[in-house]
Amino acid sequence: MGIMKDALLKAGLKPTATPKDQNQREKVAKKQMTEAVVHQEQRNFCEECNQVRPDVEFYQHRNPTTDAEWICVKCADKLKIPDACRKTAQSDTSVKKMFRREHGATLSPSEIKTKVHEKPRGPVNGNR
Ligand SMILES: [Zn+2]
Repeated sequence: MGIMKDALLKAGLKPTATPKDQNQREKVAKKQMTEAVVHQEQRNFCEECNQVRPDVEFYQHRNPTTDAEWICVKCADKLKIPDACRKTAQSDTSVKKMFRREHGATLSPSEIKTKVHEKPRGPVNGNR
């Protein structure tokens, strides 16, 4: 490496290219933080019936009759999407512990939370 450095200095290049690289890394980190905040926003718009509802949650389902993922309880029951496909408990109804499915069993909030926290969140979990 020493020989390489000498050669570069002889060619007129100075080893001062690093500060620019560090700035670029900071920009990437800020962007990732913004995306994480966006994911924590509450959603209350049902993509199935196109209405604002107090009981909209995110479902990872395999129902071929709809592309909707954020779905209210009424539509989830109508589409017969099991509550085991539900990945969030973020709606007002869930927060008030009044979330209840007619189709099949309703997951308890603790079961939902366990699944959500499976995602690696970096330094956030280090404080627990
Ligand atoms: Zn709906």
